Amino acid sequence: MLAAGAKEVVVVIPKGDEETATSALAGLPRLTLATGGPSRTQSTLAGLARLSARPDDIVMIHDAARPFLTTGHIQRLLSALEDADGAAPALAVSDTLKRRDKTTGAISTVPREQLWQVQTPQAFRFRRLTEAYGAWPSEEPATDDAGVVERHGGKVVLTPGDPRLLKLTYPEDFEMAEILAGQARQTRVGLGFDAHRFGVGDEVWLCGVKIVHDHGLIGHSDADVGLHALTDALLGAIGEGDIGDHFPPTDPQWKNAPSALFLRHAMSLIAARGGRVANVDLTLICEAPKIKPHRQAMRAKVAEILGTRVENVSIKATTTEGMGYTGRGEGLAAQAVAAIELPV
Ligand code: MG
Repeated sequence: MLAAGAKEVVVVIPKGDEETATSALAGLPRLTLATGGPSRTQSTLAGLARLSARPDDIVMIHDAARPFLTTGHIQRLLSALEDADGAAPALAVSDTLKRRDKTTGAISTVPREQLWQVQTPQAFRFRRLTEAYGAWPSEEPATDDAGVVERHGGKVVLTPGDPRLLKLTYPEDFEMAEILAGQARQTRVGLGFDAHRFGVGDEVWLCGVKIVHDHGLIGHSDADVGLHALTDALLGAIGEGDIGDHFPPTDPQWKNAPSALFLRHAMSLIAARGGRVANVDLTLICEAPKIKPHRQAMRAKVAEILGTRVENVSIKATTTEGMGYTGRGEGLAAQAVAAIELPV
């Protein structure tokens, strides 16, 4: 996203991580890699040295450890730079601050009214930043780039920060990041239904499991109504038509095909969109065979095909109390609902 509107992007990486970075950043346009130094200041200088920016160009410096950057953050910084040498997002300190004396251990309260937590990216006119770093004492660590420009007499303004620009440092930060990333997903649902007629045979396939029975199920493929209903539910969740669109019954190549193949195909379409299954719930409707003895094997099989945990797969069974075609034992039906999560 940042690269889209930028003339060039320099990514500063630790020495020895060049190969990992090259592979992770493959395809990013206008990209240059620079090797960082032992301190943040030296890494920043290494990055600046690789830029081909002109003096009046704007340069932004960002901690990659803050992944939830949006174009809105960048636009606010660019607007703020119209009347300043540097701009940085900042949050007013909202927690009470305490100071503990190193020697005595005494605790005191620090007034927080004028205190701000500064984040990145920070934006600068290239010339003002390079001049400021040129004057910065090399032995002194700089904790942020705005501080370097301030010391050099530059005017730095603060733009509204964002708690979502958090810096991922501790394990609990990553838990928070997963929650934030989860909020950027949408849940979609799909519904599927299928029925097949009983015919001559001595086994049926249901939810990928073979069950010995006094009939078979008639169908072009293996007639697994459970997997067919589920495949339609998944296709429905992504608006991709139904199973017949993808595997026409008129096509001889699907004759006697294992229905796991259909479900895997639907799942591959979801995976190609960066999606995953949240949960599926399936009801088999028949008087016989008995489903319960096979339920766990069915759940395990479906979970394996969907690449999800068994807890996310529910398989239930019901009769229709002797009514209708399932009640008369003419056939077997299944209905399924699938919830998936897709990136927004
Ligand atoms: Mg079918």
